[in-house]
Formats: sequence, C-alpha cells, structure tokens
Amino acid sequence: MKRALVCGAGGFIGSHLVKRLKKESFWARGVDLKYPEFSPSPADDFVIADLRKPDVYERIYNVQFDEVYQLAADMGGAGFIFTGENDAQIIHNNALINLNTVRACLKYNPSKVFFSSSACVYSEYNQADPDNPNCSEGSAYPAAPDSEYGWEKLFSERLYLTYHRNCGLNVRIARFHNIFGPEGAWTGGREKAPAAICRKIAMQNSGGTVEIWGDGRQTRSFLYIDECLDGVRRLMDSDLTEPVNIGSEEMVTINELVQCVAKIAGKTIHRKYIDGPLGVRGRNSDNRLVREKLGWEPKSKLEDSLRITYHWIEDQIDLMSRQKGKPGKYPIITKTPGRGERAATPDYADVEDLKP
Ligand code: NAD
Repeated sequence: MKRALVCGAGGFIGSHLVKRLKKESFWARGVDLKYPEFSPSPADDFVIADLRKPDVYERIYNVQFDEVYQLAADMGGAGFIFTGENDAQIIHNNALINLNTVRACLKYNPSKVFFSSSACVYSEYNQADPDNPNCSEGSAYPAAPDSEYGWEKLFSERLYLTYHRNCGLNVRIARFHNIFGPEGAWTGGREKAPAAICRKIAMQNSGGTVEIWGDGRQTRSFLYIDECLDGVRRLMDSDLTEPVNIGSEEMVTINELVQCVAKIAGKTIHRKYIDGPLGVRGRNSDNRLVREKLGWEPKSKLEDSLRITYHWIEDQIDLMSRQKGKPGKYPIITKTPGRGERAATPDYADVEDLKP
C-alpha cells in the first residue's frame, strides 16, 4: 500500500485530496493547524501541527512516504492576498513552511514531493488586457507578480527546483488557477470569487443587488476541484518536474460569472460596482503544455460545476440560519470552530500567532 502525506489536509484542496487518495487505496496522513471544517477527514492519521516549526517534522515523517503533497499555505481570495495588509504574514509563513518541507524531504526521502504553486506567479504586464492574458508557463519570467503571495510562490518553485537540481529531490509543481467547489471557504474573508458570488446571490431575493469589486469586466477562469485533483494525480504519476498550469481555459468576466450564478439561482440580480482589491485585469489558464505533456484537460463546464457549488453554499447558509434560530436572516457569519475543536484557521482564532 502506498503512503501519502498531505500537508494542508484541513484546507479546501487538501481535504478533497485526502478523500481522493483514500479512494485510490493510499494510506494517508493529513497535517494541518485544523481539521477540515465541513466533513470529517478519512485520513488514516491526522496530525495537528504548525508546519512553520521545524521540530514537528520528525513526528510527521515517522513513516516512509511514497508521495508528499505540500498544500499548506496562509492564503485566501483577493480580500486577503491583494489588500497589502497581510503581506508580511503571507510571505513569512509560506516561505517557512516550504523551507522546512524541502529540508524534511531531503532528510526523510519520500519518493516524490508535490508543491502547489499558483497562477499568481504570472507577470502583471502580461495580464493587463482582459481579453488576451498570457499565462503560458514560460511567461512567468521576467518575473513581475502583482502580489507578495505570488512572489513567495515563485520563490518556492525555485526552492523546490534547486533542490531537484542540486540534491535530486523528485518534485512536481502545479500552478493552480482559481480552484473552487463544495467545502471551500465561502465566507469570513478568505473566500474566492465563485464562492463569494454564490453566497451574495444566495442571500438575495430576486430583484436584489450584489456588490462587485471593480467594473466586473476583469476576466478569470475557474477550475472545479475534482478536475484539479485529476490533474494533480496525473502530474504525480508523470515524470514532469517543470511547473505546469492546472486550470481551466473557459475564461469569463466577473459580470458573466454573476450572470451564470444568477441563472442557476433563478433570480434577477442587479450589480453595484464598488472599489475593492482586484488583482490583475485578465487571467486565463494556458493548457498547451499540460495537454502536451500529461494529456490532461478539464472536461466539465463552468456552469455545471458552479451549480453544484451554489447549492452547497445555499445549504450552508440555510444550516447557519437554522443554527442561529433566525430563519430567513443571514448575518455575515464569522466562522466558529466545531464542537470540542480547537479554533483553527488562522484568520478566525490565531491571527496573532500567525503574524511574523
Ligand atoms: P486552504 O486555505 O483551504 O488550505 C490551506 C491549509 O493550510 C489550511 O487548512 C491552513 O490551515 C493550512 N495551514 C496554513 N498555515 C499552516 C501551518 N503553519 N501549518 C499547518 N497548516 C497550515 O487553501 P486551498 O485553497 O486548499 O489551497 C491549497 C494550496 O493550493 C495552497 O498552497 C494554495 O496557495 C494553493 N493554491 C490554491 C488555489 C485555489 O484556487 N484554491 C489557487 C492557487 C494556488
């Protein structure tokens, strides 16, 4: 039986990945600051640990792993990574986690290590035209990411690649483009655009108005979680060590995203444009390399995946309102830890602890 370690197993992608690995008959250990929020982890073992601390690695690596998935990061949507307020925290915490991880991999020698990089590594100057962004893998240099989060990802890509070149670390690196789906953050400040828009529309009656950051003409593509995991597993089983995009090429404007969710909800929704953190003007995955090297590309349509996500978020709102005993009233909810659990995600309880 193959053994996998999933760092960040309490988060959105990591928790789904553990489920996927268990279906594929791996023995899986999860590590995170917290347990997954929305459903129990099927991990064979789950270690609550702070991966910034070098002394936790001996305990985590006390079995021999075939595959290590490094997904742990202090991150969130535009409201977290593009305001500038969290930059020191993001760069410090994420660099520490990745520096510790490469050292641990060298010491404990898993067969392969996966690093989750991001489309945020791509240069701002290539993403100014919303209709023609350039996000081919080679366009990341000369580097000019528009956020410190992106700079740290680029630094860590280079970290894993240098350990590959100089020390023989067997690395796989994916640049994720806006992954979404059920059991992802949907409120509280770290949620991404699809979840935020689903929540805003679910909380409105037909004829209501939702606020959009910017003019809504900025473009993005969004990849459903199951497709993302197909890509990750395909990459892990390949020999490809260079960074590769894992994203969708179905680019839409934020206005189109709102229209699509409104259609799913069966509501007429008006838009009010307000100032807010925006990120680049246009971004789309360029899947030529991943198609050529891995024969992978997503199959599902954005609307179908959004429908699943919308209904899941609607259920969460319903659940929250019932728990608060105020049916029909949906206060903006700050997350609460599960019964008997340590309050977990950095933004809810341990913000000070995660400051550099
Ligand atoms: P997430 O925030 O849901 O999961 C990250 C997890 O890391 C969280 O559960 C968090 O508690 C954990 N973590 C943070 N600091 C930690 C620490 N010091 N020790 C242990 N655990 C710690 O994010 P996600 O959406 O699941 O993203 C997973 C990875 O993919 C991240 O590295 C992220 O940067 C990358 N990524 C995600 C997307 C996306 O659209 N979701 C896009 C690009 C890249």
